[in-house]
Amino acid sequence: MAKRKLNGDSEEVKAAIEDLKRKAAANDSEDADDMYDDEEKLPEESDIAVKSFEDRINDTVPLGNVGDLINETTEELEEQQRYEEEMEAEERRQRREMRRRSRMNELREERNSGRVEETEESAPPRKRKNKNYKPDDDVIIELSGVSKSYVKGVPALNDVNLKIRKGEFVFIVGESGSGKSTLVRLLLRELKPTTGSIWVNKYRVEKLHRWQIPKLRRSMGVVFQDFRLLKDRNVYENVAFAQRIVQTPIREMKRNVPNILATVGLAGKYKARPDELSGGEQQRVALARALVNKPPILLADEPTGNLDPKNTIEIMNLLDTINKNGTTVLVVTHNDKIVNDMQKRVITIKNGVVVSDEEMGGYIDED
Ligand code: ADP
Ligand code: MG
Repeated sequence: MAKRKLNGDSEEVKAAIEDLKRKAAANDSEDADDMYDDEEKLPEESDIAVKSFEDRINDTVPLGNVGDLINETTEELEEQQRYEEEMEAEERRQRREMRRRSRMNELREERNSGRVEETEESAPPRKRKNKNYKPDDDVIIELSGVSKSYVKGVPALNDVNLKIRKGEFVFIVGESGSGKSTLVRLLLRELKPTTGSIWVNKYRVEKLHRWQIPKLRRSMGVVFQDFRLLKDRNVYENVAFAQRIVQTPIREMKRNVPNILATVGLAGKYKARPDELSGGEQQRVALARALVNKPPILLADEPTGNLDPKNTIEIMNLLDTINKNGTTVLVVTHNDKIVNDMQKRVITIKNGVVVSDEEMGGYIDED
């Protein structure tokens, strides 16, 4: 909108001035005497009146700014509209937030009610702990109130308490998923227990610093169902490897490796690679590697799981011999025939709980 400036030249203003002048002249005759003593001043006074009228028009009627006013008003309206839109958006946001919070509260309540049931069912009763407790001298492995949960819910091991004495031969049996390998991994400190204490060869396993773990592991030789040999190294190298890790002097190594290979019945095969050996022979290499550093404990997790009956018996007999030579042996298996034949201590785990522990025991048949 174009601005229109009203000034002294405008016809309207001129007409208004003339009109005022006429009125002022008329007043002169009526009350000029009352108002003014000095007649000489009258024309001047009327000039002032006219001046002040012009001033008032220019000062108080900002006609020239009407467009601005209109623009400003439009802006105000738009501003008002924006403000209202923002308020509406804010209200919508708050309503959304309230809905979200109430949903979260509902979920939390659901979870909490679930958790109450869980803890009632699965959490073992808390035990009074004696900080200075140590296993007896002849106990080489001890678990006290050990539970392990990988995820919330059913624990893989639940309140396991057991002692294994130096020189014992122990079978750990139980169906698949009962927690046997979890137990082995806890002993090796591949896992930490959720609750409870573990001692292995005087080490308080779950309290060890990271740098102390290799020392703990050196007290245990380990074999697994799948042998875990270095495929591109020969038999000698696979066994020597374990000696190199603990920095055995070469001269000692050259004595130790052939000795242990002879013990497991592989003296003649030291140049062979794993893929040139039978399963039974591969497990013998693994056993030689586990034992070459003379650990006090041997852990075997399903060592005959991949072997035929003949090799199974041979490996078991070998384990028996190793035990008779002084090594404490822990064998995880579910070969019931072997367990029944060998008449050793048998610890049975079911759903993470030790359900039986018998000297000269047998395999508990579920069916
Ligand atoms: P076993 O050796 O007797 O067959 P495991 O100790 O391997 O049994 O497993 C015990 C339970 O723990 C099983 O229910 C198994 O699914 C679970 N489990 C084992 N390892 C893990 C893992 N790394 N993460 C989650 N759950 C696991
Ligand atoms: Mg297992």
